[in-house]
Amino acid sequence: MTASSRGGVTPSLSADDLVKAVPQLGDVADIRAETVSKVASANLDFETVRNLVERANDSDADAIVVTQGTDTLEETSFLCQLIYSGTKPIIFTGAMRSPKELSSDGPANLYAAVLTAIAARSGDVFVVMDNIIHFPERVIKASTSELSAFQSPQGYSGYISEGKVHWINRRYSDELNGALEGAQQAHAIALLKLVSVDDAALLDAVDDGPYKGLVIEAYGAGHIAEGLTEKVKALVRKMPVILCSQSAAGPMMERTYGYVGAELDLLNAGLLPGKHLNSKKTRLLLSLLLGAESGDVRADFVRLASLC
Ligand code: ASP
Repeated sequence: MTASSRGGVTPSLSADDLVKAVPQLGDVADIRAETVSKVASANLDFETVRNLVERANDSDADAIVVTQGTDTLEETSFLCQLIYSGTKPIIFTGAMRSPKELSSDGPANLYAAVLTAIAARSGDVFVVMDNIIHFPERVIKASTSELSAFQSPQGYSGYISEGKVHWINRRYSDELNGALEGAQQAHAIALLKLVSVDDAALLDAVDDGPYKGLVIEAYGAGHIAEGLTEKVKALVRKMPVILCSQSAAGPMMERTYGYVGAELDLLNAGLLPGKHLNSKKTRLLLSLLLGAESGDVRADFVRLASLC
């Protein structure tokens, strides 16, 4: 994004512009730049990601680096990971500061992403920001403005230092990559942050609406107000309901708290545990599982969430 006559920065740079700003790329790789679209990243949807995956599959490149706005990087990369089963590594990156700002990070991020693409293994999908190599299933945009905005409180895969990639934690299973290849996305998944008893009206809206699934972002280890539990438990009989935490780190708990509205009570009533996934990523996983229209959505959700 660069300054526009409309005020503020807007999408404007092409892939060529981004590559030209980093002449050092020529020392490490033979880069071919392609501009797929120029939009603010809130507009990137499932079709965009599927198109990207098709282009990656058709490409004769050894690896792919994707640049995009940072707002949805944590979602597009996870979607890509779930539907991409090709061999070329795909590395996502972006910039927290636009080119005219002091210490713009775009060029360094692009360079680090290319280094990661060269060092990655077959089929790897990662997010590289601020010299950290993140797993798509774990990375979050934790700050609106810091260069270190992208964080993985549950652990990241590696980092770049002195122009070298260092792996500290490879994914323990590649089973997640491409697990939902070919799936469509079902859109009618409600995502509710349940913070107070007042939210009961939102649960009625889910019940009356077109929803095929519900993700609940609960307090801490997976807790909601007692007054909401009856409606939540009734919804379980109609659709998969997944319980996630509002906390940035740690798994949703499964066997600690036993009061009404706590995780034991809710899981016993048929809600499913989101495990380490946050609510946005849970919603994407559930939407693909429902869009795949095959198998046992509930069992498949638990199996795949356990890999994240
Ligand atoms: N709002 C922008 C976007 O995600 C932020 C950025 O360019 O990183 O499209």
